[in-house]
Amino acid sequence: MPRQNPIGKTVQRQLKTPYGLLVYQFTPKRVKNMNIRIRSNGQLYVSASPRVPMREIERFLESRSQWIFQAITRIEARQQAERKECLQYWGENIPFQTQIIPFDKPESIKLKGEIAELLLWEDNEAHRKLCMQTLWKKEAEKVFPARFEFWAGWFQEKYQVEAKKIRLAIKPMTSRWGSYSKRTGTIALSLFLSSKPREFLEYTIVHEFCHMIYLNHSPAFHALVEENLPGASEIRKKMKKSPI
Ligand SMILES: [Zn+2]
Repeated sequence: MPRQNPIGKTVQRQLKTPYGLLVYQFTPKRVKNMNIRIRSNGQLYVSASPRVPMREIERFLESRSQWIFQAITRIEARQQAERKECLQYWGENIPFQTQIIPFDKPESIKLKGEIAELLLWEDNEAHRKLCMQTLWKKEAEKVFPARFEFWAGWFQEKYQVEAKKIRLAIKPMTSRWGSYSKRTGTIALSLFLSSKPREFLEYTIVHEFCHMIYLNHSPAFHALVEENLPGASEIRKKMKKSPI
């Protein structure tokens, strides 16, 4: 059984609990029994009288582990929201929590109500982005085709262009939201559109189909976009302020 260290000396300790591995800073202090505190940095601090056996401290922590993990999660979510480290999902900012997983399991992301959970091999910006990208891609593949088909039908009927023959490609484009190629008969949409408000997707699809009629960005082109999607110029302004 581990012994307590000298008074005032803080050490980091770990405890396996049914809710996960609890990491905490432990300080023996001349206090009555023990104190536990979760600081604003999301870390758990425990202090206890040297008289209290470590076993008893651990038993106490384990009995409170669900509450502790919930409190830490709430604090971390709030901090992320403050730092604007959120998952952008259809224009909403969803706070997320990360968890390190072994390399033999795939990195993944799950939406759990108000919060997103990222299971990562390494917790850094690059891994987080890549992980989020799997969600955006899945969402894009689920949502874009139906909207694309709707507008293809619309343009074909209204302007007698062969819009229904246009192929949709969903790509991880970061320099633009969409593109139209007359040569290949393809409209490409950036999968990152699923991180933005739904109107960005509508705008981009309409914009690209309008290129079947005008291969430029003339005032007539923009008037055509506006005619088919009232409010388009407002959406376009918002999109300029909200880069990929
Ligand atoms: Zn264009």
